[in-house]
Parts: sequence; C-alpha cells; structure tokens
Amino acid sequence: MRIVALAGGIGGARFLRGVQAAAPDAELTVVVNTGDDITLYGLRICPDLDTVMYTLGGAIDEQRGWGRQDETFVARGELEAYDAPAAWFGLGDRDLATHLVRRQMLDAGFPLSQVTAALCVRWQPGAALLPMSDDRVETHVRVRTDSGERVLHFQEWWVRHRAALPATAIVAVGAESSAPAPGVLEAIAAADVVLLPPSNPVVSIGTILQVPGIAAALAARPVVGVSPIVGGAPVRGMADACLTAIGVETSAEAVGRNYGPDLLDAWLVDTADAGATVPGVRVRAVPLLMSDLAATTAMARAALELAGA
Ligand code: GDP
Ligand code: CA
Repeated sequence: MRIVALAGGIGGARFLRGVQAAAPDAELTVVVNTGDDITLYGLRICPDLDTVMYTLGGAIDEQRGWGRQDETFVARGELEAYDAPAAWFGLGDRDLATHLVRRQMLDAGFPLSQVTAALCVRWQPGAALLPMSDDRVETHVRVRTDSGERVLHFQEWWVRHRAALPATAIVAVGAESSAPAPGVLEAIAAADVVLLPPSNPVVSIGTILQVPGIAAALAARPVVGVSPIVGGAPVRGMADACLTAIGVETSAEAVGRNYGPDLLDAWLVDTADAGATVPGVRVRAVPLLMSDLAATTAMARAALELAGA
C-alpha cells in the first residue's frame, strides 16, 4: 500500500508514528509544511521538517514535542547574554548541528528536498520526507496592536507572542509562485490513500494546499482527514487563533466543512464531536487523543479503514 500524508509539526509527526505502526509494510511519503521556515543568524530553520524527522527518527524530545532529546541550550544562553534580537527562538546545541549542515548544503547549491534527504540518512525516519516545495514560502501574519496594524513572520507571532496578538490575516508569502518539490505530485498520483493528520488546518495543511498543483492532485485521490479540534478546542497549541483569523469557527465540523468535499472523502472526528456533518463527506467519530502509541495507532487504523469504506 502507498500512503501519502501531509504534515505540520507536532500533531502531524505524532500521528505518523501511529500510521507506521498501523501499516508497517506501507510505503509512506510525507509532504511537510515549510511555510513556518525562517532564516535566523543566517541559518535556515525548518521547524516542521525537523519535528517530523526527529519524531520518526526516535530523536525528538517527547515532553516538548520539538527539538532533540537530551538537549542543552548553552548557545541560546550566550545569545541572550548578547541580547541577540532572535533569542526568543529556541535552538538547542544538538539541534544547531542540524542547522549548520543544512546551511552548508544549501550554500553548496542543494535544494531543500535534497538537504532533507541527506539529513534523513542519519535519522532513518522510515518514510520519505519531502518539503512541500523547494521554493521559499513564508507565512506572515497581520496583527492588531495598540499602535495599529503590523505584519510579522508566523514564528514571531506564534513563538514570541504565543499568538496573543489578534490576527486579522494569515498569508503564505511566495506560495502562489512556488512549485511542489520533486516527487510530491508523483507520490500523490501513486497514492492508494492520502491522510491529513490532525495538523493545524490553517498554517500547516492550509499552507501546503496553497502550493499550486497539490490541491488538484489530491482531488483525484481518496483523502481522509483527522480533526485537530476536539470538543471545540485545539488539543494542543493555539490553532483557534489561526482559524479565527480566516473566519472559521473552532469546531471539528467547521474545519471539515472548510476543507470541504472537493478535498475530503472522509473526515474523522472525536467521539465528543459525534454529531458533526460535512455535506458530501463521510464522517466517523472515534477517540482522537494521541495519549500513547496504542491510541495513536488505533486512530491511524480508523483513518485507513475509512479510506477503504
Ligand atoms: P505544529 O506545526 O507543531 O503546530 O504541529 P501540527 O500543525 O502538525 O499540529 C498541531 C495540531 O495538532 C494542533 O492544532 C493540535 O490541536 C493537534 N493535536 C495535538 N495533539 C493532538 C491529539 O492528541 N489529538 C488530536 N486530534 N489533535 C492533536
Ligand atoms: Ca508548524
């Protein structure tokens, strides 16, 4: 079986562990959001690619959900001591090595997709990880502040301000002129099923869908989505702030309807949202909390079953 999944960071990566456990013999290709990427200190930071790579490679810090286990933050403390302007972003010491290798390969002219493949030789994630695009796409957020409106990079809004500044627009800058990375459309065309993990529907999945060609390719495949919203709230993080910015209610039903029947064949919601309906889409309710690998595997199994139903 060939499975393609789109993914953001933590929610996507955790769900993918369940997919690998539920379908150990499947060939899994993951198309990862790169709209969160940002250049700091000259380093190209790819939070979602690294979260998926470290999680599937067994190197993630389970508590934090991002970065390396057994991490230290000596360099970050030094940056704070310099009052460096980007010290709000947590780059661990072990993680720095990943970024130095990526910088060196990008400087040598390799596209991000090839850099990612090279990093994965070490981590062996058991899946092909493809950035959604080799082109630069960066999500920016327009916010209201006391002194008027201002536009900032998604990471600054999300990490530095914890999404507390009300967002009035979210724009994936560069998306409309980007192209899918090599292999993305081919993998989708060959997929028996495409899964949308419970990743952020706006700034993770929504950004991937804005890369020209990807949504059209998905329309021709069986697509099953998994809701990141349970009982009217994100399970983790501030996805509600993103949904509000695009005028979508924070509910499993509204997110399913926003994806809509052109994209989705089936939509998995939590048992707490069992009454949800999406016209033109099969909806099924099962427990959607990824509390451990067994629960996550059961979720993935339900998604794969729903694809065949
Ligand atoms: P990010 O890039 O690190 O923000 O990660 P993603 O975009 O891949 O996933 C974030 C989403 O995962 C959030 O909106 C959460 O609601 C969702 N999420 C996290 N844990 C769970 C869980 O146990 N169950 C479900 N259904 N969603 C979850
Ligand atoms: Ca992300």
